[in-house]
Amino acid sequence: MKLELEAVSKRYGTATALDSVSLTVEDGEFFTLVGPSGCGKTTTLRCIAGFEAPTTGTIRFDGESMAGVPPESRGVGVVFQNYALFPHMSVGENVAYGLRFTDPPGGVSRDERVSELLDLVDLTGFEDREPDSLSGGQQQRVALARALAPGPELLLLDEPMSALDARLRKRLRRQVKRIQTELGVTTVYVTHDQSEALAVSDRVAVLNRGRVEQVGDPRDVYHRP
Ligand code: ADP
Ligand code: ADP
Repeated sequence: MKLELEAVSKRYGTATALDSVSLTVEDGEFFTLVGPSGCGKTTTLRCIAGFEAPTTGTIRFDGESMAGVPPESRGVGVVFQNYALFPHMSVGENVAYGLRFTDPPGGVSRDERVSELLDLVDLTGFEDREPDSLSGGQQQRVALARALAPGPELLLLDEPMSALDARLRKRLRRQVKRIQTELGVTTVYVTHDQSEALAVSDRVAVLNRGRVEQVGDPRDVYHRP
């Protein structure tokens, strides 16, 4: 799915979180937002997901304006840094929660879909485990499986690895990249970590104070003089 932001601004009272942000993310692209804390990365994702409405500007999915379209009707999967799993539900129930608005794609049963997704994130057979018995990396993979369960055409990842140590981050980012490539799902990824952005991104946008400063190949963005 092709994602377009056209002159998107977001103000909270007198504070400007986004100042006329225009971006195009191509179908199947792995697109990364980087920039200092407070530059507007999370606000951008929240507007794309529909958790917030832009103050002005337009967001389009495959050319269609998302104005007034609620989050559950946008076909977007979201993983946030602290998008914790429900501790009172098993791993399988957490993944099935991703199907609360839709039937599983491909005509399979909910149980079959859950086990497909757990296979995809290398957690085959983890259905009955409790989230608290999993490592941080495993928990984030369950969150990814939950986000992917309805077969979204757009995946939004907000620093999904920041709570993990360096070794686990490296491993999880390989897994995320493999899954993204396998599914061909358009992905917008937020990270502070330059090596992560270099490793996974097709293109990178640098935000600063709510504005897009630069967009390009990650090697060009990070190796400019
Ligand atoms: P980032 O994700 O890059 O750290 P954010 O998108 O979270 O940045 O925030 C961008 C700016 O908008 C910051 O200055 C932040 O303080 C402000 N902001 C974000 N959400 C709100 C809110 N709900 N109310 C007021 N200001 C907000
Ligand atoms: P996997 O076990 O599939 O490799 P991770 O990449 O998340 O999943 O695990 C990374 C490391 O965390 C491994 O060394 C693993 O032994 C350890 N680990 C797995 N589960 C737990 C747990 N419940 N508590 C602590 N460490 C764990």
